[in-house]
Amino acid sequence: MDNSPHIGLIGLGTMGAALALNIAENGYPIAVYNRTPAVTDAFTSGAGDLAAKLTPAKTLEEFVAAITPPRSIILMVPAGPVVDDQIAALRPLLGDGDLIIDAGNANYTDTERRSRESENDAFDFMGIGVSGGEEGARHGPSIMVGGDAAQWERMGAILEAISAKYQDEPCAALMGPGGAGHFVKMVHNGIEYADMEMIAETYALMRDGMGFDAAQVAQTFEGWDAGTLASYLVEISGKVARATDPISGAPMLDVILDKAGQKGTGRWTVIEAQQLAVAIPVIEAAVTARNLSARLAERKKGAEVFGGMPQPLPDGVLDTETLERALIAGKILCYAQGFEMLARASAEFGWNLPMPVIAKIWRNGCIIRSEMLNDMASALATNPGESLIFAEPFTSLLRENEAALRKTVIAATGAGIAVPALAAGLSWFDSMRSPRGAANMIQAQRDFFGNHGFERLDGQDAPHGPWGAHG
Ligand code: NDP
Repeated sequence: MDNSPHIGLIGLGTMGAALALNIAENGYPIAVYNRTPAVTDAFTSGAGDLAAKLTPAKTLEEFVAAITPPRSIILMVPAGPVVDDQIAALRPLLGDGDLIIDAGNANYTDTERRSRESENDAFDFMGIGVSGGEEGARHGPSIMVGGDAAQWERMGAILEAISAKYQDEPCAALMGPGGAGHFVKMVHNGIEYADMEMIAETYALMRDGMGFDAAQVAQTFEGWDAGTLASYLVEISGKVARATDPISGAPMLDVILDKAGQKGTGRWTVIEAQQLAVAIPVIEAAVTARNLSARLAERKKGAEVFGGMPQPLPDGVLDTETLERALIAGKILCYAQGFEMLARASAEFGWNLPMPVIAKIWRNGCIIRSEMLNDMASALATNPGESLIFAEPFTSLLRENEAALRKTVIAATGAGIAVPALAAGLSWFDSMRSPRGAANMIQAQRDFFGNHGFERLDGQDAPHGPWGAHG
């Protein structure tokens, strides 16, 4: 059997090591290289039976020479300048027909630039978004591929083979050219921030409002994971609430500092949404909440200076069914916004993103995988160009659960428990069903101070108000 690799991988960190083993396990011999050679040694010696499929290299030259042309080289290194440096180091070693695939979390604008720049090189370049963390990379991630038809033709089979499967359907697909794969991965991560934040908000209501201990929180999430909210993130929320700290014996959740980290993909999503003038307030609220969580000293000062909050909820104001319903509504509103952002980007950049396919490849392998995404895939296929809120079963689900979301936000507000993402979802929903909003006031103000003009309800051609010399 031919055991010479046509494929190689650079960067044997958390994701790269797992992805290399996944590729080897699927029958593809693979060359591997890592900046620190000791990491390569540890990787190959821990690879067990799969070591036979691996060709480790100690230098970049040795690595490239070990791959039979045409070479496909996957980069799994930190996003940003490291990727550019790695491409520059490979440039003199690669030739016609070779392909570099950036599988890290690149900003899509970098991927667009690198794709353009590679037109001047002998080798080709493409960017793919990989989601699922270490476990996903090892046993099947969701893969959002950016590239042209020829690149998909070349890499599609292997990417499908290593991807997660949802009822035998691979969770890997071509999204569109250039940076499209990384753009979809970015929005995936924005949605991930929002999903996590809304779950955390229901946890805050259970803990501070309803006086639940960690075991009761765990039991609630475990129950939700058996219903409409069945998803990886609700499942792991139950598991983390169930876990006990081996050091103190206290519930793990009670010993973890409430300061959330981030690597920037959520922030990028928000920035790009503003560039596209698309409203994703649930994701924005989630990113802002992480930023606020980092300001621990000021939050402590705020508690001392202003005191009094949060307060326990009066008995019977909220129950876990109401919270579950609120989270169902919040989740639908969040995904409606995320898919709207993808649709807007698709039109703006001429990508022709396959919206139902995006929902399909998120059904397994990635962090936001959930049962609901299966219905979203169908809804996006049968209602192209329409917001998810106008597609069944989501219209009915919103009708059924909107009151619970409102009740939850009102209760939280009364008790001083911050629920920024759930509240942002509700406000967006209220705006989206207001046939007459308040922007007539904005237009009048703009005309008053800036002579900007406005349209009239009666259609008359009189685009300025009688503000006179005050304007
Ligand atoms: P790690 O920090 O675990 O590994 C980073 C790898 O890059 C190591 O092999 C490291 O080599 C190498 N590296 C770092 N700096 C350089 C450099 N200057 N030159 C050459 N090689 C370098 O990162 P992850 O595996 O977590 O992440 C890799 C990529 O995947 C990132 O873009 C990340 O955003 C993305 N990603 C991560 C996910 C996760 O859950 N962790 C999920 C999805 C995507 P060395 O051993 O020498 O330090």
